[in-house]
Amino acid sequence: MPLFDKLRRPLRDLRISVTDRCNFRCPYCMPKEIFGREFAFLERSELLSFEEIARLAAIFVRQGVKKIRLTGGEPLLRRNIEHLIAMLGSIDGLEDLALTTNGSLLTAERARALRAAGLRRITISLDSLDDAVFRSMNDVSFPVTRVLDAIDAAAAAGLTPLKIDMVVKRGVNDASVVPMAARFRWSGHIVRFIEYMDVGNTNAWRMEDVVAGREIAERIAAEWPLRTAEPTYFGEVAGRWTYEDGAGEIGIITSVTQPFCGSCTRARLSAAGELYTCLFAGSGRDVRGLLRAGADDETVAALIASTWADRGDRYSEIRSEATLRLKKVEMSHIGG
Ligand code: SAM
Ligand code: SF4
Ligand code: SF4
Repeated sequence: MPLFDKLRRPLRDLRISVTDRCNFRCPYCMPKEIFGREFAFLERSELLSFEEIARLAAIFVRQGVKKIRLTGGEPLLRRNIEHLIAMLGSIDGLEDLALTTNGSLLTAERARALRAAGLRRITISLDSLDDAVFRSMNDVSFPVTRVLDAIDAAAAAGLTPLKIDMVVKRGVNDASVVPMAARFRWSGHIVRFIEYMDVGNTNAWRMEDVVAGREIAERIAAEWPLRTAEPTYFGEVAGRWTYEDGAGEIGIITSVTQPFCGSCTRARLSAAGELYTCLFAGSGRDVRGLLRAGADDETVAALIASTWADRGDRYSEIRSEATLRLKKVEMSHIGG
C-alpha cells in the first residue's frame, strides 16, 4: 500500500540531491552574487554518504516509491557517483532511476560508465543554442558546444529517450525557444520547456519574466502544428505535445500558470539529508540526524510515513504576493 498525504496523493517519486555545489552559476538558481567565494557550502561530513543514501532509498522503495532521480547542485561533481547508481540499481522494486545534469562533465566515457552502472535515463539542461546567451545563462562562460557534445554522448551510450530541459526567461532566452524545437525535431530527444519559477529567495523572480507555457506552445505551433498528447503516467509534470508531422514530442512544464500540485507525488531528500515534501518548502525533517543517532529502519520508515501523512503542500496553486515573501529553501540545496 503506498502512503497517502492529506490531499490523497500517493508517495511515488523521490528526488535525491547528492551535492549542493555546482560549477555553473545560473542566475535563476545560484546567482553568483549570493553563491560566491564566501558562501558556506556543506562540508563533506554533512553530506549523506552513499551508504546512507542507498539505505534511505531502499526504505522509501518499501514505502511505495517507484522512481528515483539524482540531482543537485550538479550531481556529476559528486565523486564516483557511478558507485551510488550501482547501489541504487540493485534495490528490488525500484522501477526507474534517472539523473539530471547540466552536462558540463558528461564526456563519452562518463556517459558509458553511468550506463554501465545501471543508469537508464538522463535529463540534460540546456537553456539556449546561442553560445553568447548560453554563456550568460550559466554565468561561468561555459560554451554550448560542450553540452551539445554531452547530449550526443548520452544518446550514444543508450541513455534514451533523452530529455533536454530549458528554463525560459523572458527577454533573456525566450528567442531560443523555436531554435531549440527546430534542432531537436526528429532527433528522438524530448525538449521540455520550463516556466521560470520563484524557487528559493535569491533569484529576484518576477512574474513579468515568466513566459507562459501557452505562449511557448503557440510560438512553436506557429512553425510546426502541434497536438496535445495524453500523460504517460499519473503525476507527469510536463504537458505532452506531439508534432503533427511526426517529428516527435515536446513537453511544457507550466508550474506557474497551470500548477499541477493535485497530482504531485514527489518527495525530496536534500544533500544534507533533510526530507522535504515541496520544492517551495521552508524547512525539512532531519533524517540524517536520525540515521546517525543509530535509528533502525522501522523508525526511519515511521518518520517518512508521518511526514507524508501530514503533507498538505500546494504552493503553486496558492502562489501570491504574500507567498513570494515566505522563506523558501534554495533549489541547489533541495535538488531541482
Ligand atoms: N545542475 C543540474 C542541472 O542544471 O540540470 C541539476 C540540478 S538543477 C537545480 C535541476 C533543474 O532545475 C535544471 O533543469 C534547472 O534549469 C532547473 N531550475 C533551476 N532553477 C530554476 C527556476 N528558478 N525555475 C525553473 N527551473 C529551474
Ligand atoms: Fe547549477 Fe543546475 Fe542550478 Fe544551473 S540550474 S546553477 S547548473 S544546479
Ligand atoms: Fe509539488 Fe509543491 Fe510543486 Fe505543488 S508546488 S507541484 S506540491 S513541489
